[in-house]
Amino acid sequence: MNDTGKTKSLRVCRKCLPYAETREEFFQKLEAYIDNLAEEDRADQEHYEARLKACAQCPNLSDGMCVLCGCYVELRAALKLRRCPDVVRRW
Ligand code: SF4
Repeated sequence: MNDTGKTKSLRVCRKCLPYAETREEFFQKLEAYIDNLAEEDRADQEHYEARLKACAQCPNLSDGMCVLCGCYVELRAALKLRRCPDVVRRW
């Protein structure tokens, strides 16, 4: 309730939501989300690691995020059907 006695609606920006918590908390949640992916949606471990290795050497990686698609690469690489968004795919 605000100072006029009216109930104030709370709007949450989904994009900004991760930044409302600490960086460590956010990455813990991201890791838990990845751990809980359905097996049929998940890339196998060999592909996952190769993808992350390619991302680690890529100039488009910034603070864990791909600047081309805006995804956290750990999540994108974990999803079997996702591909690198670069014009010449790195994975
Ligand atoms: S997803 Fe592709 S373009 Fe993005 S950081 Fe990884 S290798 Fe680079």
